[in-house]
Amino acid sequence: MTRLPLAAALVWGWATPLVVTVASSRGERRVPVRVERGFPAVAAADLAPVLSLEAATPRAGAASVRVVGRSFDFVLDAPYFRFQGRLYPLVAGPYVARDTLFVPLQWVVESLPRLLESRYRFDTTRFRLEELPEALARPPSRPLPLAGPPPGPGPARRRIVALDPGHGGPDVGMVGPIGTGPFLREKQVTLAVARAVAEELARRGIGAVLTRTKDTLIALRDRGRVARARGADLFLSIHVNAANPRWRDAEGARGVETYFLAEARTEDALRVAQMENESVRFETTAGAPSGDPLAFILNDLAQNEHLRESSRMAELVQGTVARVHPGESRGVKQAGFMVLATSFMPAVLIEIGFGSNYPEARFLTGATGQRRIARAIADGVERYLEEYERRLASSEATPG
Ligand SMILES: [Zn+2]
Repeated sequence: MTRLPLAAALVWGWATPLVVTVASSRGERRVPVRVERGFPAVAAADLAPVLSLEAATPRAGAASVRVVGRSFDFVLDAPYFRFQGRLYPLVAGPYVARDTLFVPLQWVVESLPRLLESRYRFDTTRFRLEELPEALARPPSRPLPLAGPPPGPGPARRRIVALDPGHGGPDVGMVGPIGTGPFLREKQVTLAVARAVAEELARRGIGAVLTRTKDTLIALRDRGRVARARGADLFLSIHVNAANPRWRDAEGARGVETYFLAEARTEDALRVAQMENESVRFETTAGAPSGDPLAFILNDLAQNEHLRESSRMAELVQGTVARVHPGESRGVKQAGFMVLATSFMPAVLIEIGFGSNYPEARFLTGATGQRRIARAIADGVERYLEEYERRLASSEATPG
């Protein structure tokens, strides 16, 4: 990992020179590096006179930078960008200050030379980025995969599922049921069920990691990052639903539903996504992206292969849980959940029942109910993984 020292320097902001030099056939320029948000960044406008670079903020909360005619798309303050249909993580996102777009230094000195290898070269000792003329350009190399170890030959690797107990710490989640002294707190139920799912998976020889194991708050965008760092293949977020108080029979609403990440199709799906995305209110790090820019990333995720896998996993998990659930099956739905957007792997979010409904609140807080739901979730995940390995084996058997 030769990149590590530089990456570490960029993450922590230490050892970052105050200027980075950019050079091209148009000249050379020393661009000031700012550390005003805890990570080094440079103004895109400072790069533009020398590099073939053009910045635009096409809609609120989003930014696009064209470099040698290719587009890099960002969500302001979100630690990733899209390039040629793929998402790439960053340590921090671009931001706007004093009407100027600032891009992370990491993107300039790491991402550009890596993704536009034939056009950019970064000299770490001189801290100098050079744009090469097109004539010297070599054919571009393949972009690096995002995360997760590549599937190797030999026996199937032990799969790891990231279990994400919704909410935590000051973010209690929903409280229920309606009409009695409320005894259900979502953050407690999600943690208990996630722990039980982990045990059930272990019994089936499937690995599990939890994004939180205590009553603590993990930022939505960090949950996916935690899962990736721990080598997870799948991401499963667990939540408890709440009826909209304006519904005609709000206390009567019950049942289980499973979501995968895509733009919300119905008003109800939008309600659930907005409710779960609310958690960002409790996060102390500033500038979480809001609804609109999320939709912008989602448009691109729709082309992502994970979407198909996520929707299949959602179907199987919904099926097995609905079978043991005392409420109705509300089906598989799609909506834009922030927590799923940053996972970069097949990801689903299950609303295991309505805490606003008295019988369901009893079921969800009881050990028997929790165990039953957990076993059913594990069944669904196991089925999905079996099916996935079968498909993988048959695609490897077919040459080409
Ligand atoms: Zn929730």
